[in-house]
Amino acid sequence: MKTPFCIFCLKSGILCSRCQEKVDKGLFSELDIKVCKKFLELEERFQELKEVEFIKALKIKGLTIILVKVPRGFPKRVWFEISRILRREFGSVRIIEKGYDIKSMIEQLLAPVKILSIATVWFPDGSSELVVRISKHESRRLSVNKEDLEKVISTFAQINARIEYI
Ligand SMILES: [Zn+2]
Repeated sequence: MKTPFCIFCLKSGILCSRCQEKVDKGLFSELDIKVCKKFLELEERFQELKEVEFIKALKIKGLTIILVKVPRGFPKRVWFEISRILRREFGSVRIIEKGYDIKSMIEQLLAPVKILSIATVWFPDGSSELVVRISKHESRRLSVNKEDLEKVISTFAQINARIEYI
């Protein structure tokens, strides 16, 4: 598992100055460390994890959402088993795969709700925003509320994101 932290820091639980700096700057949280530590333990059982990169974890009202980057053709059944193990420690868990385009990542976050369109909107000051449109009728099937989802998408996609109902 590739993680932003040193293996030694994860195993010992004591962060070196470089790892600590990542936390102090707000790039990563205690939750990220906890999840990476757990993944490292799981790697002994699930060899496939060696090829996986941890990107970020967020906790939204009891749901832990974990973003990972996986090689092509990574077996989905591995996530099924790992989610089940993680659930004991983290409660509800959702693992999202970061693909080559933002859309597939957002699709996983919103599932089972379908995306109607995704567009980047540019403002005169040069900033931009990602607008994700879904049907208002389907919005009640979202597993997380709209504002929290916008936060998750913004963090994971590293762009301001807004969900619009149409
Ligand atoms: Zn370290």
